[in-house]
Amino acid sequence: MAGHRGVLFIVSSPSGGGKTTLIKAAMAELAGRGIKSHFSVSHTTRTARPSETDGVDYHFASRESFENMVAAGEFLEWAEYAGNLYGTARAEVEGRLSMGTDVFLDIEVQGANQVKTLVPEVVKVFIYPPSYDVLKHRLTQRGQDATEAIRQRLQWASREFGVAGEFDYAIINDRLDDAVKVLTGICLAEHHRSKRMKPRLDGIREGFQQHLEEDYSQ
Ligand code: ADP
Ligand code: 5GP
Repeated sequence: MAGHRGVLFIVSSPSGGGKTTLIKAAMAELAGRGIKSHFSVSHTTRTARPSETDGVDYHFASRESFENMVAAGEFLEWAEYAGNLYGTARAEVEGRLSMGTDVFLDIEVQGANQVKTLVPEVVKVFIYPPSYDVLKHRLTQRGQDATEAIRQRLQWASREFGVAGEFDYAIINDRLDDAVKVLTGICLAEHHRSKRMKPRLDGIREGFQQHLEEDYSQ
């Protein structure tokens, strides 16, 4: 749609909180309503999990090549998490938003703050697990992280909860179908902000005026 810019969403949570699952489900719901979206693929220096594919889940990079990208200003944001570097390449985001595609960033809270500074209109959503036990269980049953990585992620979680109040929206990811409905609802509500609806509303108003004049002109 001409003049329509995509919406940038940040979805943060402790690792295992359900970001990937919820974003993919919400994107499918939005697609059903004709809203195009893109799940940004981050760069990271961490080792790939058994189920992960380079270029699909992450762009896996050496520390050296990641640092070269930092020096070249290629990242919109980047941060260190549990001993590894993670970053969002500008190329994942900027062109897509200007083409009218929504972009979802699955990033941790330091990166979320950097993006908020650069793109004040970003919509920030924090996903809470319902409890410590549930998060530990989900991390364990995902079966992708070693015991030590799970311990680090649980410890990191309590830091992340400290800044979750700065996010625009909070979702407790208890029942999956409910959480998907809430995330989809947030995305739809953001599309219905008057300022984002303006091009469509202008079209309706102009058409209305034209027909009114045709109907009642003498
Ligand atoms: P993240 O992307 O935040 O690290 P994932 O989306 O990979 O988290 O979810 C972690 C694990 O928890 C996955 O195995 C996923 O299938 C599971 N999961 C996510 N949300 C729910 C839920 N509401 N109920 C049950 N399992 C869930
Ligand atoms: P994981 O190693 O479990 O995939 O991710 C660890 C943490 O890094 C998660 O909180 C995830 O959201 C975050 N993360 C993933 N990609 C990025 C990124 O590009 N930038 C930032 N700042 N964090 C990211």
